[in-house]
Amino acid sequence: MTAVETLLEVKHLKKYYPIHGGVFGRKIGEVKAVDDVSFTVRKGETLGIVGESGCGKSTTGRSILRLEEPTAGSIRFADEELTNLSGENMRRMRREIQMVFQDPFASLNPRRTAGAAIIEPLEVHGLGNRQERRDKMKELLSVVGLDSYHGERYPHQFSGGQRQRIGIARALAVQPKLIVADEPVSALDVSIQSQVLNLMEDLQDQFNLTYVFIAHDLSVVRHISDRVGVMYLGGMVELADRDELYDHPLHPYTQALLSAVPVPDPTANRERIILSGDVPSPADPPQGCTFHTRCPHVMDVCREVRPSFNNYGGNHFAACHLLEK
Ligand code: SF4
Repeated sequence: MTAVETLLEVKHLKKYYPIHGGVFGRKIGEVKAVDDVSFTVRKGETLGIVGESGCGKSTTGRSILRLEEPTAGSIRFADEELTNLSGENMRRMRREIQMVFQDPFASLNPRRTAGAAIIEPLEVHGLGNRQERRDKMKELLSVVGLDSYHGERYPHQFSGGQRQRIGIARALAVQPKLIVADEPVSALDVSIQSQVLNLMEDLQDQFNLTYVFIAHDLSVVRHISDRVGVMYLGGMVELADRDELYDHPLHPYTQALLSAVPVPDPTANRERIILSGDVPSPADPPQGCTFHTRCPHVMDVCREVRPSFNNYGGNHFAACHLLEK
C-alpha cells in the first residue's frame, strides 16, 4: 500500500472578527466565524466542505490563502507553515494555491477582456514574455473547452458556465498544486453545474490537482468529493470518506441535512428530520455543543461541554457526546 501524502494540514484554525460599539468604538465582542477547525487534505484528492450559509466554510477556504488573516491556528502546505510567511513569500506561495470563486468576474475589471483576466496572474508572477503569455492564455481557453476568440470578449458577453470556465483557466494559469473552489457552481443551472464539475474532475487528473471544494449543496459536494467535512456554526462536526458520510452519518446535524436531500427512489422510506429554531449567531454561539439548541438528541452534558472531534473508526471523525458513550 502506498503512503498517502498530505498536501495541506489545517490545525485549530480560528478566525474571529471584532465587534466594535459604544461611543468610543471599543471592542465589545467577537464573531467566531471559524472556531477551532482541523483537517488534512491529501495530495490528489478532493475534500468537500459543506454547510449552511454562515457556517464558516468560505472563511475557512479564504484563510488557507490568507485572504482572511487567521486569528490563531496552523496552516501547513507542502511542509511550509503559511501563517508565518511574510507578505512577499505568501504572494509567491499563491502561485501554488489558487482560488476559484462563485463569480470569477466579480472582483475583476468589467472593461478588461477574458484573455487579459487569464494573463493577469502570469504577469503578477512574472511568468513568460508577452507572446508566451498570450500563447498560454489560448492554450488554457482550449483546456477549459473554449475557443481562442473568447479571449477577446468581455465578461458580460459570457454565460455563467463560460464565466466559470474562464475563472478555472485563470486559476490554472500559474500551475497550482491546490485549488480552493468556493461555491464554484452555485450560481449555475443544474445542467451546467454537472458540465463544470466534470471539467474540474478531468482537469484534476490532467494536472494532478488537489481540491478543497466548498459548497452548501450536498448533492454537488457528493458528486466531486473523495472525503467530506460538515461545518456548523464555525466548527467542523463531521469528516469522513464520501460514501461513508452519506451512507452512515454519525452526527445529528449531518443526519438532518441528509434527510432533506431528495432521493431518486420515490419508494425509499426515509424520514425527514426537521430541525427546530434558527442557526444561532456566531457572535453569541451556544456554550458546550454549538448544535445543542437545535439537536433532537440533546443531553445535559451537551449544554456544558464542547464535544471533541474524535475518530470513530476508518477515519470517520465526529464531534458529538452521543458517540462518546
Ligand atoms: Fe446533539 Fe449533544 Fe451530539 Fe451536540 S453533542 S450533536 S447536542 S447529542
